[in-house]
Amino acid sequence: MAESTHAEPIDVAIVGGGAAGLATAIFAARSAPGLSIVILDGARKLGAKILVSGGGRCNVTNRSVTARDFHGGSPHVIKRVLAAFPVDRTVSFFGEIGVELHEEEHGKLFPDTNQARTVLDSLMNEASRRGVHILPEHRVTGIAPSDAGFRIVTDSATLRARRVVLATGGRSLPKTGSDGGGYALATALGHTLVSLTPALVPLVLSGEFHVPLSGISQDVEVAVRVENSNPVRIRGAMLWTHFGVSGPSVLDASRHWHRARLDGRAVEVTASFLPGEDFPAIERGLLASSVGPESRGVAQSKSTVRKTLSHMLPARVADAVLGQLDIEGTIPLSHLPRDHRRKLAHSLIRWRLPVSDSRGYRYAEVTAGGVRLTEVDVSTLASRQCPDLFLVGEILDVDGRLGGFNFQWAWSTAHVAASAISRT
Ligand SMILES: Cc1cc2nc3c(=O)[nH]c(=O)nc-3n(C[C@H](O)[C@H](O)[C@H](O)COP(=O)(O)OP(=O)(O)OC[C@H]3O[C@@H](n4cnc5c(N)ncnc54)[C@H](O)[C@@H]3O)c2cc1C
Repeated sequence: MAESTHAEPIDVAIVGGGAAGLATAIFAARSAPGLSIVILDGARKLGAKILVSGGGRCNVTNRSVTARDFHGGSPHVIKRVLAAFPVDRTVSFFGEIGVELHEEEHGKLFPDTNQARTVLDSLMNEASRRGVHILPEHRVTGIAPSDAGFRIVTDSATLRARRVVLATGGRSLPKTGSDGGGYALATALGHTLVSLTPALVPLVLSGEFHVPLSGISQDVEVAVRVENSNPVRIRGAMLWTHFGVSGPSVLDASRHWHRARLDGRAVEVTASFLPGEDFPAIERGLLASSVGPESRGVAQSKSTVRKTLSHMLPARVADAVLGQLDIEGTIPLSHLPRDHRRKLAHSLIRWRLPVSDSRGYRYAEVTAGGVRLTEVDVSTLASRQCPDLFLVGEILDVDGRLGGFNFQWAWSTAHVAASAISRT
């Protein structure tokens, strides 16, 4: 195995050149231009995850980011990190490297080009302009403290570095290179992990109800009910698929299902097909031949159950619901027996989604769990377990909801660590 070509140890070796690793290198090189900075990445080409992000458009951040948009470690720590490099600085930074951002629904910020490639190329160009040395196809297999800092073993070379930044991401979408290998590096250096689960991942349903509905999207409120906790409610689009359900509301709900299962707690996932409405209102609406304040309805006294329902839900979902409940759809609504009406109203707001699993890390956008936030210094993201080690991005026990929050965590953690590195 070749020893590093550097006679002197590298000042900063960054393991992982995804969003957090690239940003750490750039911020450190900007603040301390004299530092020698190397990024080691196992992938042949860097940034695969940036390229697939946001449907190929890269949702870089969000207009409004608070600690409430995240799960995992202490909200206090998350808040401090976000405050150190907030959204307006992210927007300025991207402007400086030639990526103008625009806002879309729910505050999501995308590049004006609508291409993730713009984000990746601009980060790569800036890193190279600042003299950052990038070594792809250098998968790190071991890091050991040594006299001069660390000895880093990759599958093609051994290097020495004064400081190491672990930016290896999580386990989601392993084909991009983020296969969880970084957790073993962190634990070998003295860290412990909060157990890992996929998050922002589609859910697999048992039974056949969902199969004929594949391709239909509807506005719902997903509720995740975990024993001894208040339900978590998430409103948004839900997409029926051949395996179960996906779409923003389901992706955001998925981590709660996984964490409950991890903890061995009973969990039920339901969807309200009429978000914002409750049982009495729906029952009243069915009775009065109109539903809700805006009266979605048709004059329903003569209308059939099916026709009424198909004004409230996608028609194929309405048919499937009636079929499952064994309610005759062709009879006039006014002939619907009371117990059927009540069963229907109840089901519309609490439709059970029989979740058997999720699609796993291969389809997850992020990993929940990771290196404990209590094991890093909040003001520097330096390891408390191992001197001169820093941790940034998704490897830490923080996962954001959909909407650009996970990248904001990458940018903010990168800035905090880089600022500390450039001061020392
Ligand atoms: C399909 C998809 C869409 C997404 N869309 C968005 C979005 O639009 N907005 C948003 O905010 N978030 C999005 N995310 C989440 C976001 O991409 C991640 O949270 C973010 O990329 C994490 O950054 P990171 O740098 O910590 O890790 P990563 O981006 O995962 O980078 C880790 C890097 O480390 C390298 N590596 C790992 N182990 C080793 C090793 N042992 N040696 C050397 N190199 C190693 C990997 O090759 C990789 O390049 C999306 C995720 C996915 C999967």
